[in-house]
Amino acid sequence: METRILGTEKKDIEEAARILERGGLVAFPTETVYGLGANALDPEAVSKVYEAKGRPSDNPMIVHISKPKQLYKLTRDITEDMKKLMDAFWPGPLTMVVPALPQVPRVTTGGLDTVAVRMPDNDITLSLINMTDEPLAGPSANLSGRPSPTCPSHVDDDLHGRIDAIIQGEACRVGIESTVVDMTEEIPVILRPGIITREQLSKVLSKKVQIDPAVFKRPDGGKKSEEKDRKKDGLLIADDDFKPRSPGMKYKHYAPKAEMIIFKGDPDKVRLAIAEEKMIRTGFGQKVGVLIYDNENPESAAHDFFAQLRAFDKSGVDVIIAAALSEDGVGLAVMNRMFKSAGYNIREI
Ligand code: AMP
Ligand code: MG
Repeated sequence: METRILGTEKKDIEEAARILERGGLVAFPTETVYGLGANALDPEAVSKVYEAKGRPSDNPMIVHISKPKQLYKLTRDITEDMKKLMDAFWPGPLTMVVPALPQVPRVTTGGLDTVAVRMPDNDITLSLINMTDEPLAGPSANLSGRPSPTCPSHVDDDLHGRIDAIIQGEACRVGIESTVVDMTEEIPVILRPGIITREQLSKVLSKKVQIDPAVFKRPDGGKKSEEKDRKKDGLLIADDDFKPRSPGMKYKHYAPKAEMIIFKGDPDKVRLAIAEEKMIRTGFGQKVGVLIYDNENPESAAHDFFAQLRAFDKSGVDVIIAAALSEDGVGLAVMNRMFKSAGYNIREI
């Protein structure tokens, strides 16, 4: 398949809209990461997205809209809480999981009776959705398992020849995917942390917001004591309620080609240990990439992280050694990606 590279002028967006209307696939820019778009209400088009990405078909997609009115094509009940979050954060990096109308194809929702919706903060993509006036299904525009794409060249590297077109917009401002919050029950539950934090959601809603335990689940079970503390603080929903609600959480994610190790602990000791590890590895002839971010500025880490993993892969790095950030506020979102990228290869210092 020939992949067309489109610009951001009106004629390019019109061309992209025509491709979507014909049931084709177009990669589009957003403020979080690049998305791979198809008409969300066309099951055949959506199936092609799974195929192009190599994505498991039970991993549902986020549906992008450009006007609140388009929500009525996806869900019936718009609650007061949803309205508050829409007012505060849309367009922006917040996805809400809501009950799906029967006409939303189950291929779009990964077989669930809920649908994930957001309004992206990108003028090009908003005008594209306005043109088709159909909700746009769009997971991240990478091959399944690879780091999410934060600029058009990343999309081209992964999907050239597999999709109809790429809109060549700007590099993504945020750099990690949206916060996903389940709004189907009285207490909202964060299924995926992002740049919009639990504290921000809680403030706007004037109520408790919880975090799905799956966010903290490690394949090795992790530290039971940490989990207990979080439960005590009312941060986690109780385990009896536990059913993984965000199917995406169970898959291998964001992995660079290189081996990756995360050093966690006292910052000074971590720096020393990283320097030492780098020396040893270099001595063995390995090419080493080091990632140390400013703990006080997790937004900048979020912006840089996926792009940096891809840059390391391009330069043929054998091992990536990263320092952990503290897991509060936006740091939680960054560490959620970092742990998965490293396959939970963590060294406590
Ligand atoms: P991506 O499209 O790669 O940004 O991933 C979308 C994320 O949203 C995945 O983690 C999905 O599991 C999650 N998601 C999408 N729709 C739903 C839904 N209806 N219920 C729960 N999680 C969802
Ligand atoms: Mg993704």
